[in-house]
Amino acid sequence: MAKKGRVFRDQAIVLRSHKLSESDKIIRILTREHGKRSVVAKGLRKTTSRFGARLEPLSYVDILLYEGRNMDTVQQVETKSSFKELREDLNLFVAISAMAELVDSLTEEHDPHPEVFDLLLGALTLMGHSPGSAEFILSFFEFKLFTAAGYSPGVKFCVFCGGPLTGGAASFSLDLGGLVCASCSEKRFAETGRLIKIGRLCAQLLEWMEDHPFGTFPQGEIAKSSGAKELALLLEKVAENLMEREFKSRKVMREIP
Ligand SMILES: [Zn+2]
Repeated sequence: MAKKGRVFRDQAIVLRSHKLSESDKIIRILTREHGKRSVVAKGLRKTTSRFGARLEPLSYVDILLYEGRNMDTVQQVETKSSFKELREDLNLFVAISAMAELVDSLTEEHDPHPEVFDLLLGALTLMGHSPGSAEFILSFFEFKLFTAAGYSPGVKFCVFCGGPLTGGAASFSLDLGGLVCASCSEKRFAETGRLIKIGRLCAQLLEWMEDHPFGTFPQGEIAKSSGAKELALLLEKVAENLMEREFKSRKVMREIP
């Protein structure tokens, strides 16, 4: 970690930005080695700005920061990639914006997680190369991000009884964070939390994602679009549920005197 009052350099991906004054912006960035940071970029809105459009959301930059007490100040920015091709397609832009929002919500400031940075950069790059697989890339990214953030979904055994997930359709428990076997979802319905019914292909895709590194693609029957579609909807629900939980826990933390 850099000491206060020092200048340091890192790679970063811009997560979001908002206007601070007529000419200054606060930018939320994810750096690789120094975690998520809130940084002030001065003079951004001037046409003569040194930083210009380099700090648009989801730009990948090399950045030099002066570490302040609460917020850092941008000294220099160099664009490594602006991911222009992702920004110009509405569907892709929605997908990458969802990634940024999720990363922002599931990471803490000043808590370095290079693996989360690498995952986000990998997902942006992969989506640029395989735009036709954007939906699956987003799902796979979400699954790996949940794991990196400490919410690894339970997909190999029933999260309620620990038994095998045999026999066709299963359910995913939002409250327990994983798959529930057919027997538990019927007999212990009240105890297994909020359940979402999913099909066999979707359950197999979840297990496949646990066993494979990000950047690979499933082949054969499990790659069928019905499973992938269901997977996308399920992971969106899981993401919403986690963000809600994070939001609540932070709200509670703020209310503690
Ligand atoms: Zn069970």
